[in-house]
Amino acid sequence: MIYLDNAATTRVSAEVFEAMKPYFCEQYANPSSIYSFAGSAAKAVDEARRRTAALIGAQPNEIYFTSGGSESDNWAVKAAAEALERKGKHIITSRIEHHAVLHTCQYLEKHGYEVTYVSVDENGVVKLDELEAAIRPDTTLISIMAANNEIGTIQPLKEIGALASKNGILFHTDAVQAYGHIPLDVERLHIDLLSASSHKFHGPKGVGFLYIRKGVRMGSFLHGGAQERARRAGTHNTPGIVGLGAAAARAAAQMEETIEKETKLRDYLIKRVLDEVPYSRLNGHPSKRLPNNANFCFRFIEGESLLILLDQKGICASSGSACTSGSLDPSHVLLAIGLPHEIAHGSLRLTLSEETTREDIDVTVEAIKSIVERLRSMSPLYEDFVKAQREHGAQE
Ligand SMILES: *Cc1c(COP(=O)(O)O)cnc(C)c1O
Repeated sequence: MIYLDNAATTRVSAEVFEAMKPYFCEQYANPSSIYSFAGSAAKAVDEARRRTAALIGAQPNEIYFTSGGSESDNWAVKAAAEALERKGKHIITSRIEHHAVLHTCQYLEKHGYEVTYVSVDENGVVKLDELEAAIRPDTTLISIMAANNEIGTIQPLKEIGALASKNGILFHTDAVQAYGHIPLDVERLHIDLLSASSHKFHGPKGVGFLYIRKGVRMGSFLHGGAQERARRAGTHNTPGIVGLGAAAARAAAQMEETIEKETKLRDYLIKRVLDEVPYSRLNGHPSKRLPNNANFCFRFIEGESLLILLDQKGICASSGSACTSGSLDPSHVLLAIGLPHEIAHGSLRLTLSEETTREDIDVTVEAIKSIVERLRSMSPLYEDFVKAQREHGAQE
């Protein structure tokens, strides 16, 4: 099997799993309990908080553990909007956000909020002039993702953060694809709220965090016990949190090396596909993109058929967001970068990890070449296209 769907989820690394193990059957105490048996679990949660914060230059008490990226996004957008209701009810986001942000914004729209969806350029970069023009006196929150989960484009966070802070607006970023993969610093980038999820960087599923800058006033998302400084109720998921912390520490230790390795392989993959598969295109920014992301369109090819045939060859890939596959809607991200409907249906996302080898890439490229050729040979549209090309050529 060749696993090239690391944007959907990653394998839990062996050292992360080892770190988690004692907190199931041995150190199982509730970290909030008083007796000394709970001390080691509480200490482990503290240590994870420290490691998690360190990766983005935050203070440990600015980290709030959650059940993952979706919860963090829901919490950030809803609670920030509600807390600032008296100032205004206008939010700015982009057209290419993850559904955890987009659907939360749509929910708020139903409850009397106004949302501006800023567009992106052909590479998927948020248009800063449009963003700036959208700011109003009643704008309370800007939510723009750090890096896109489908096309990998990295956003100009520093510029967005500066705009937000200059105008006294909170800045939330969905950093689920970026945290643990590329350097992020909440001070340098003026980030007030940041969402991340452990399973996107070799930690366990079902755990993540929301960074809330000290001094930002907003309500809790889950009401109940006093965990997480009374802002997120619920007994701590000790093994999950320990795994998140271990994954963060691991990412910190090897980030530079991983970026270098993945970027090289990614660029090799992109070059081979664009050179060797006719009528293919790369989606997303050519250089300002996640080190592990490649996203292609192949004209005359149905994305779904390509995925099924790749699967038959043992290659796990995706057509974009795992959350939307299963639906036949074209990707909102590909539509936002200006692709027509028929092309937005036929995309292929390949996302690498540091375990991906050059051989994996070679096998995958050969598989894509032969599958694309086979599918096109069965496509009447492609046949017409080739015929038209030939006639056009004959005329010249
Ligand atoms: C995966 C993902 C999420 C959702 O995170 P979960 O932990 O799976 O809930 C949110 N935003 C982005 C950009 C993602 O890639």
